[in-house]
Amino acid sequence: MQKLGNILINVMQELSRTSTNGEAHIEVNSTVCSPEEFETLFGYFTRGTILERIDLDVEKIDPVVTCGCGFTEKADEGHDGYTKCPECGRFAEIRDPTYNIVKPNPETNGERQSIRFS
Ligand SMILES: [Zn+2]
Repeated sequence: MQKLGNILINVMQELSRTSTNGEAHIEVNSTVCSPEEFETLFGYFTRGTILERIDLDVEKIDPVVTCGCGFTEKADEGHDGYTKCPECGRFAEIRDPTYNIVKPNPETNGERQSIRFS
């Protein structure tokens, strides 16, 4: 599990590389911090940078069970990474990323052209 500070830095680096059109939408795992905390810290850390004016939308990530048989369901918090699939009985993986940048998508938005983040 990554520390909150590292996640903030990663998010800032990714957002500074990608052209955002002034908006970003990210998801943060509730085991790291609440969306409100993340927004507050992001505002604090980006003060005086090109990311300062980004309209950041933060939501929490729900862990999801995904099985090879096609079964998908929201997982319980406090899982240990695997669970038994209720459909087929095999072990199913739980996808529970620390954070996820929903928007901007680097593949569709492209690289930031104007100002580089140092
Ligand atoms: Zn299954």
